[in-house]
Amino acid sequence: MSDGVSVVAGGGGFIGGHLVAELRGAGRRVRAVDIKPLDQWYQVFDDVENVGADLKQREACERVCAGADRVYQLAADMGGMGFIEHNKALCMLSVLTNTHMLLAAQSAGVSRFFYSSSACVYNTEKQMSADVVPLREEDAYPAMAEDGYGWEKLFSERMCRHFREDLGLPTRVARFHNVYGPHGTWEGGREKAPAAICRKVIHAKYRNDPTIEVWGDGSQTRSFMYIDDCTRGTIAIADSDILDPINLGSSELVTINGLLDIVEDIAGIELHRTYNTGAPKGVNGRNSDNTMIQRALGWEPSIKLRDGMERTYRWIHDEYMTKYGD
Ligand code: NAD
Repeated sequence: MSDGVSVVAGGGGFIGGHLVAELRGAGRRVRAVDIKPLDQWYQVFDDVENVGADLKQREACERVCAGADRVYQLAADMGGMGFIEHNKALCMLSVLTNTHMLLAAQSAGVSRFFYSSSACVYNTEKQMSADVVPLREEDAYPAMAEDGYGWEKLFSERMCRHFREDLGLPTRVARFHNVYGPHGTWEGGREKAPAAICRKVIHAKYRNDPTIEVWGDGSQTRSFMYIDDCTRGTIAIADSDILDPINLGSSELVTINGLLDIVEDIAGIELHRTYNTGAPKGVNGRNSDNTMIQRALGWEPSIKLRDGMERTYRWIHDEYMTKYGD
């Protein structure tokens, strides 16, 4: 591998921050790029080139891709269900970032362009039941993706494919299924279920309020991938010869009620649950079929939900106490 720079677009975000940590730990030269002011990045490393830029702009993409060997394109406007259901146009505008990053990476002649797609590309009609059949890569078609966010991801996946086929840019695409862990969004409206549940439980515990509101009826099923599995899989897929979009997710299925059971157990508390069935809850059931990644890499995400949630809960607990503790 050349000793050129690895660019992490969205490096101030949750997954980007962990990816920067992992790549620098492996001795790679890293350029982390994000639109947020540096003091809002989840992780900042002094021995890394940290760049502030709006990657919707083509010139900014060209600047950050100059001299790059690898590009990890993670920058996107995104959040949990509450955010993506109410911000479809904003989510779709990430197409500007993806387009301009592809063009810039192409002209920089990078050896790999990694794109973080999502399980939200999958046909929603195949996710109507909580009793799920795990999603295989082919289930994205015929297309009926999650409105807004999912359609943009699906379109950008196809741009990656055609930049590879027509223009020779070596693109690799992973479909992340829900990722969780420390150093991510845990309040403010963009947080996802694992972080939101940790925050609510911590809040209930320290405010002596024994109730918790659950979005949906709690029976919806999901799988959640711990961040360390995500960064490991991302680097492996980027380095691999896997040409088609591939699932990167845990196959440990849990209901939202089951996730709450885990967090209550970690916190040593039992709360009275109220169910807000009018709140955004996404599809009824979703899991990752890992046949393809097992075949290609002989590996799949395997960190147990309970173990990952312990670490996540502890981090959110510390953040919560720093901000709201007496
Ligand atoms: P995140 O919001 O924590 O990180 C995304 C980062 O991109 C943010 O720091 C944001 O400021 C930055 N960004 C947005 N617009 C930008 C722009 N115009 N220029 C520069 N930076 C910009 O989200 P995350 O959870 O770390 O997600 C990273 C990627 O993985 C995203 O593409 C997301 O769609 C994808 N993904 C995440 C999950 C998950 O569960 N977290 C699941 C599926 C896919």
